[in-house]
Amino acid sequence: MILRHCGQIVPAFRLATHSSRFSVAVRSIGVLREFAVLLGRSALDVLFPKVCMLCGKAVSGQDSDLCACCYGNIEKITGPVCTRCGTVFASPYGGDHLCGDCIARRPHYDCARSAGVYVGELRRAIQQFKFKRRSMLSAPLADFVACCCEPIGPQRGYAALVPVPLHLDRLRHRGYNQSLLLALHLGRQWRVPVERDYLRRINWSVSQISLRRSQRRRAVRGAFTCHSSRYVGKRLLLIDDVFTSGATVDECARTLKRYGAAAVDVLTVARTLRGPSECQVLNA
Ligand SMILES: [Zn+2]
Ligand SMILES: [Zn+2]
Repeated sequence: MILRHCGQIVPAFRLATHSSRFSVAVRSIGVLREFAVLLGRSALDVLFPKVCMLCGKAVSGQDSDLCACCYGNIEKITGPVCTRCGTVFASPYGGDHLCGDCIARRPHYDCARSAGVYVGELRRAIQQFKFKRRSMLSAPLADFVACCCEPIGPQRGYAALVPVPLHLDRLRHRGYNQSLLLALHLGRQWRVPVERDYLRRINWSVSQISLRRSQRRRAVRGAFTCHSSRYVGKRLLLIDDVFTSGATVDECARTLKRYGAAAVDVLTVARTLRGPSECQVLNA
């Protein structure tokens, strides 16, 4: 049998031999390339061993930034929770349902969820992330949120992720907005655009530290604005690090809806449990 190959007429058996040699060569190059990458990674691991971002111990997994011990010590929220505000109920029995606060006063956001409880390793990680200039922690914290925060996710069809704006004084002092860093990581993973300054804080004089829940709500009233009505009829996702009283994200959601958003969900890395500890958290 005769076949035409590269403009030349060659016997079929020669072409088959030629093609199989070619595919073997390609496969060999692929194997060599993978080997070289692995070798490179191994050399890098030997020269610069990957360590846990929290405790400094060696990390065994290829992609993890936290060791198994630190990750395992994070208290994840598994429910039952309030279907709207995400408050964790004291009893571990029963299903999700509305809490008394949401029945008494419906928040402006539609659904708020947090991945973990603001205690222990997670609290330490967030405090280092915010107050010790360890912006690199945004990656493992965003990964933690992405894998532990049902039902919030790209399947809900968000038009954009909106980080909660940081107080200008804190932004100047810290040099970065921790909510924006988290939003950028999540946006990349979920392929959802991030609005860096669609939502703006216009009232800079109010500090919420040591205020009670109702006082916090009044303190942030009118503190935000949007620079356009770009998201009329769209669903947005607010991103923040810690959910405390919920006053700030509620006012953000009210503002976004005033500018036309049809729905606003809230996603935070952690939340405080209701009680005295709530007052100790800086809503920065
Ligand atoms: Zn660790
Ligand atoms: Zn609730």
